[in-house]
Amino acid sequence: MLTIFSVPAEVQQTLSVMSIFSINAFTIANEHGQTTGWAIFPIASRINHSCVPNVHNSYNSTINLRMIHAIRLITAEEEITTTYIGSSNPAYKRQQELEPYGFRCSCSSCETSLEDTASDTRRERIVELNRDITWHELKSAVHCSRGLPDALKAAEELALMLEAEGIFHLDLATA
Ligand SMILES: [Zn+2]
Repeated sequence: MLTIFSVPAEVQQTLSVMSIFSINAFTIANEHGQTTGWAIFPIASRINHSCVPNVHNSYNSTINLRMIHAIRLITAEEEITTTYIGSSNPAYKRQQELEPYGFRCSCSSCETSLEDTASDTRRERIVELNRDITWHELKSAVHCSRGLPDALKAAEELALMLEAEGIFHLDLATA
């Protein structure tokens, strides 16, 4: 038996507001990096997504502000963009990760990947290298630096791949 419920207008409005909030909110964390809540930031929440962002955003719990830092030169007419997913995955996976936000990304990386698979190949390699570096670091912690040369080699290749993809956010800083 099929039961059809009608949702009162007040409930529909509340759901709509909650949906808008969840799409635009950022996490707030304490000094230990533990999430303590969610908040809307009037400027930062308006920054659109790009898989090749030109800013990095983070929350500074000491001064209680969302920080937006340029990660490359930004021209006067260029849109400020950040990444909503923080992912180096190939384009089709990024589009899946962005589905909850209700749009299809059309950044330069996503558009290029429709015609040229080189970007997706590099991004797949980035994911592999991040995994390899973690493995080499674990190995070197256990076996007294024996994995370190491999980790450094992987980190150098990772930095080259990230630069080729125009990814200058935290992944490059930690490579
Ligand atoms: Zn994109």
